[in-house]
Amino acid sequence: MEAEEELYAAHKILTDFLSVKKMRQTIEREKILDCIYAYNGHFKPNTIYELMQNDFRVSKATVYNTFETLLECNLIVSHHFLHDRVEYEKTTANATHHHRICTKCGEVQEFSDLKIKRAIKNRTFTTFDTEYSTVYLYGICKKCKKKYRLK
Ligand SMILES: [Zn+2]
Ligand SMILES: [Zn+2]
Repeated sequence: MEAEEELYAAHKILTDFLSVKKMRQTIEREKILDCIYAYNGHFKPNTIYELMQNDFRVSKATVYNTFETLLECNLIVSHHFLHDRVEYEKTTANATHHHRICTKCGEVQEFSDLKIKRAIKNRTFTTFDTEYSTVYLYGICKKCKKKYRLK
């Protein structure tokens, strides 16, 4: 999907969700969604809050609340990379890659694998509909291997 179509689809999902929940459609939520969908990579609420300071000022509370809403309608996913490290990503980006996490330094690297992607797609369930997925590989990165002299 083109970025523009992706953004349009994301706005439609949010609008529908808000109307079902009888929540108000606010310009703040729209702008936060725009900012997230223009962002490539993993982020925290603070990343978005700071980015928005130049353009359209919103409060931290609004950013946090909007994250809750966007999680509820599956427009963003949360990654618990390590026990105390939660980061977010737009769902459309998450669908294209997986994550490798170094347990020593916490570095997160993304990777794609068509075979894994296909395997997940082909694994259907009668009692469950898969909406999105990601694979986490935990291990030790090259730098740490060298640093700690691990074999
Ligand atoms: Zn990612
Ligand atoms: Zn490392």
